[in-house]
Amino acid sequence: MALLKDMAPRYWLRIALDLPLPGLFDYYHTEPVAIGIRVLVRFGARQLVGMVIETPDQPEYDADRVKRIEMPLTDLPPMPDVWLDMAQFAARYYQRPLGEVVLPVLPAPLRRPAAYTGKKSAGGPVARQLARQSKNPPIKKKNKKLAAPVLNTEQQAVVQRLLEASHPARFLLYGVTGSGKTETYLRLALEVLAQGKQVLFMVPEINLTPQFEKTLRQRLVADDGAAYPIAVMHSGLADGKRLESWLAISQGEARVLLGTRMAVFSPMPDLGLIIVDEEHDPSYKQQDGLRYSARDLAVWRAQQLGIPIVLGSATPSFESWRHAEQGHYELLRLTQRATAVALPEIRLIDTRRAQLEQGWAPQLLEALESTLQAGQQALVFLNRRGYAPVLHCGSCGWLSQCSHCSAYAVLHKGHKHYMQCHHCGDQSPVAKHCPDCGYVDLKPIGHGTQRVEEFLTERFPQARILRIDADATRRKGSAERLFAQVHAGEVDILIGTQMVSKGHDFSRLALVVVLNADTMLFAQDFRAPERLFAQLMQVAGRAGRHHEGAQVLVQTDYPDQAVYQALLKHDYAVFAQHELTQRQSVGLPPYVHLALITAEAKSLAQALDFLKQAKDWAQHPDMPGRDRVFLYDAVPLRIVRVANVERAQLLIESQHRSALQAFLRAWGSQLDELAKYYRCRFTLEVDPQEI
Ligand code: ADP
Ligand code: ZN
Ligand code: ZN
Repeated sequence: MALLKDMAPRYWLRIALDLPLPGLFDYYHTEPVAIGIRVLVRFGARQLVGMVIETPDQPEYDADRVKRIEMPLTDLPPMPDVWLDMAQFAARYYQRPLGEVVLPVLPAPLRRPAAYTGKKSAGGPVARQLARQSKNPPIKKKNKKLAAPVLNTEQQAVVQRLLEASHPARFLLYGVTGSGKTETYLRLALEVLAQGKQVLFMVPEINLTPQFEKTLRQRLVADDGAAYPIAVMHSGLADGKRLESWLAISQGEARVLLGTRMAVFSPMPDLGLIIVDEEHDPSYKQQDGLRYSARDLAVWRAQQLGIPIVLGSATPSFESWRHAEQGHYELLRLTQRATAVALPEIRLIDTRRAQLEQGWAPQLLEALESTLQAGQQALVFLNRRGYAPVLHCGSCGWLSQCSHCSAYAVLHKGHKHYMQCHHCGDQSPVAKHCPDCGYVDLKPIGHGTQRVEEFLTERFPQARILRIDADATRRKGSAERLFAQVHAGEVDILIGTQMVSKGHDFSRLALVVVLNADTMLFAQDFRAPERLFAQLMQVAGRAGRHHEGAQVLVQTDYPDQAVYQALLKHDYAVFAQHELTQRQSVGLPPYVHLALITAEAKSLAQALDFLKQAKDWAQHPDMPGRDRVFLYDAVPLRIVRVANVERAQLLIESQHRSALQAFLRAWGSQLDELAKYYRCRFTLEVDPQEI
């Protein structure tokens, strides 16, 4: 506090704003404002919502020029200290300004100035939400309570370990698909809930929440018969719903939070357990803004609070597997399917020796035929949406190149046919003749989900065929509707991309066919085999969960690859060993830590020059951590141009996380200026998932 000209007291505030600028911003108020309170401020011509982070004795900025806040937003109590600590950690670790953490994670109404100042803002969004809720009390979904199955011996052992563990209680639950991991989560959760604590359940995908929510509602019921209130949090929720969940969970009313990666940032006053299902899933990593790993932050949060965390997977990430090997996590195993149904048989179909019909080996079509005859469901998996990945002129060799990207425009069919680039999203009409030579007979090359659908519809006219991919589920709620059709048994052949591979439980599924696995194998990324193995195990795990004799057929030109051989045996552990040995020998994660800087500019030369200069600066003798950090050369991205912007990247590696952190902090803070000079935009990503 200080008395200045006008004699009104000034309480200095340092405020986080959601701006791509480093540091906090000085303001004052004439009354004290607590740390963790949101405030409305002017910033230049704009009005913004910020959050008070410090209340110093003096501003850092020239006191005469510091502005007063417009008003504190006191419709919610201050954010708790533990929450602010986690946000500080995330900002530091991922090298972003604090304002880019604490504000974007709030439900939109809480950070939108208009929600407080607009004509219809009466009382602010919280008051309006509470009024809405009291007018329309939420309909209590009635789910009949489900009895818990008797745990098998393996599950019992796991649950017992989970319950008796002392801190730090970090578990990696490695259980084959269908081994009853969920059941062990539920037992542990019930125990923790009964102690009056809250539980955070994390799943990688929005699509998985309805099924999971149903299970939680049926099973998380106290001894006295009262269901524990559950809140759901993901980016598909409308603003009001998300605010409702946020309020319920942060005020302790809801006892369970089920959510996707953003849920890790929800304040939970009584948090007592975190479960991260499918912990290996790359969706836990945010791909823009604050590029955080929700799994890693969850581990941090559990550590901070001294509470147990369970990371579950049938194909753990190699990072987590290695943590378990080193004893940082306790490894728990479930080796058998809980329903006593054997894992499906996996077979490789060597496409080098097969006569393919529209990309299909005859064995696959025969298997489909007999599955249909037996009245069972089949799943056809391929990770490529659209009709065909490229259009080709047989006369001059022209290909449907996107005019903004170094990639092909994909042919889409449907009510309307169109070309679309999957990198920039640009849509254009389908060329009727070759733009180069005028030849009229342009041919689609390769197969996407739509073409597979067309082929199977002709081939099996009596079958009920459904396609689930990003195109089929663009409209809100449509994914849920389509999956409901599958669950209801109204579908004989389901065609899908990775959207269908995760977590779902299709009761009559007896055959899984994988069409283009090889394209995933030869992606440039060093994690490609790990990802492919996880995806194939996942998708194979959809089959025969309830009856014997299910089959998984994988088409490949490369049956000898380690990933396929391990797949045949369902042997994650051997595969992990093999890959980890290789990673160690060439120095890749989890044996080293990485950061990736990606530069974008009008021309590749600018982007490369910026990165080269940045690398030169890194060699400065005063740079912290310099001798323990290695910088690779700047290289163009594989798809160099996207949306008329050219891109290059530079990889930074260190054996020592702390050295890398110190280096990035010092170095990263100089790069903004440099990027301006080279007219580049850049992003710095810590622990990048794709390189
Ligand atoms: P995971 O999460 O490991 O893939 P789930 O928890 O979904 O496996 O369990 C697979 C199936 O086995 C589910 O239908 C579940 O109800 C059933 N299940 C789990 N535990 C048992 C048990 N002890 N006895 C009988 N069925 C079980
Ligand atoms: Zn041509
Ligand atoms: Zn494009």
